[in-house]
Amino acid sequence: MSKKLTSRAEDYSKWYNELVVKADLAENSAVRGCMVIKPYGYAIWEKMQAELDKMFKETGHQNAYFPLFVPKSLFEAEEKNAEGFAKECAVVTHYRLQSDPEKEGKLRVDPEAKLEEELVVRPTSEAIIWNTYRNWIQSYRDLPLLINQWANVVRWEMRTRLFLRTAEFLWQEGHTAHATKEEAVEETKLMNGVYAKFVENFMAIPVIQGVKSESERFAGAEDTYCIEALMQDGKALQAGTSHFLGQNFAKAFDVKFANKEGKQDYVWATSWGVSTRLMGALIMTHSDDNGLVLPPNLAPYQVVIVPIYRNDEQFDAIAEVAKEIMNDLRDRGISVKFDKRDTLRPGAKFAQHELQGVPLRIAIGPKDLEDKTVEVARRDTLSKQSVILDRITVVMEDLLEEIQGNLFDRALQFRDEHITPVDNFDEFKKALETKGGFLSAHWDGTAETEDKIKELTKATIRCIPLDAKQEEGVCVYSGKPSSKRVLFAKAY
Ligand code: AMP
Repeated sequence: MSKKLTSRAEDYSKWYNELVVKADLAENSAVRGCMVIKPYGYAIWEKMQAELDKMFKETGHQNAYFPLFVPKSLFEAEEKNAEGFAKECAVVTHYRLQSDPEKEGKLRVDPEAKLEEELVVRPTSEAIIWNTYRNWIQSYRDLPLLINQWANVVRWEMRTRLFLRTAEFLWQEGHTAHATKEEAVEETKLMNGVYAKFVENFMAIPVIQGVKSESERFAGAEDTYCIEALMQDGKALQAGTSHFLGQNFAKAFDVKFANKEGKQDYVWATSWGVSTRLMGALIMTHSDDNGLVLPPNLAPYQVVIVPIYRNDEQFDAIAEVAKEIMNDLRDRGISVKFDKRDTLRPGAKFAQHELQGVPLRIAIGPKDLEDKTVEVARRDTLSKQSVILDRITVVMEDLLEEIQGNLFDRALQFRDEHITPVDNFDEFKKALETKGGFLSAHWDGTAETEDKIKELTKATIRCIPLDAKQEEGVCVYSGKPSSKRVLFAKAY
């Protein structure tokens, strides 16, 4: 087993990078800013996908797939969206390579094979999708149109981090079309709520639902709803976004429908997405200096059984008991793996499963067989207990539920301890420096103040919480009147 992880206290960012690689979740690739997601990491992502996909379908959405490339003329059509993403676009200009006449064995772009129209590699798919919707929507009977796509997108990010910010990432993007503004706003809120529910119940990460300020809004949106989470180093992470797009895309792509009165009107739109960044949120919320800590709902396997033996006879006896336990656990829908590798000692196996965050470990040795007990270790608390063999299934079932709840409670307590109300700029700076986390502060509602605070402290407005109370106050920076508090934080 390779040496221990750098601790969080020593260097949080190094701890994160080491953990991602050592727990076998992902690694950097030959392409700058793009990652390879390894099987163990991908298995976690697949679990997230499966649950989200179910939730999308339960709320009436269907999956479809649109092209990776967007012709530049379509990309330009919605000006704000185009302008917002232009700086991070990868663009295809040619469609063929040929032997380089000047360098043997090398290839070059064939100058004859220049595309008539350049293709943008999608950074988001509104343009190609709304161009398609024009043909799908004629009347109010065609609405609402509730579509989701699972895809990869490319944003040429300059500073990348595995999962948190990559140049290519995997995500889902919902794109819906509605007959009325009210319906579209309703959908935007509904899907932000779906994200909140998923992240809290499944990933055991507490989130704050809110609305973005204008400068943090998605390019081309009228309103951006979001869920914000807090990482253990006191930095916030935008975990998901849901946009009310007004009629901007319908106007740009001329998507009209005949309403019930037979009058032509532009369609109302939403889009919403979560990405592989959620993997980063998962790691940074729960994990510790020993490695990954996984909520049972997302663990590729929830239980691992490690045999401790000296000879074949002992192994066979243990394997028989393990088989029974596995059958019983699987009957109850618990995923379990028997780690019978004879190339590693039990201690090394323990360390690996700990590093990879397996929620529960069962160790069985010859003495356990005699006593009809097994040793159970919890990953979240690192505590061990001896369990009577007859009760193992029930105990495991209870423990998994307890771990899921405990991880959420722990994260919630940490998050709540790190929301600090501040009433002037000195308090703001002090709390940010000493404690980090969210600062609940009055803001005058202007982009100038927001920019100035960002410039001075690196903190940005993460959101205006949906449950923010009306409260008379003055802006922490400008002293101008304000009617509610917003949440600032340094963010990933
Ligand atoms: P957006 O389309 O900008 O609203 O982003 C949709 C989702 O993707 C949000 O949850 C973002 O936090 C996430 N996201 C944005 N950029 C990246 C990136 N470079 N890598 C991973 N996730 C991202």
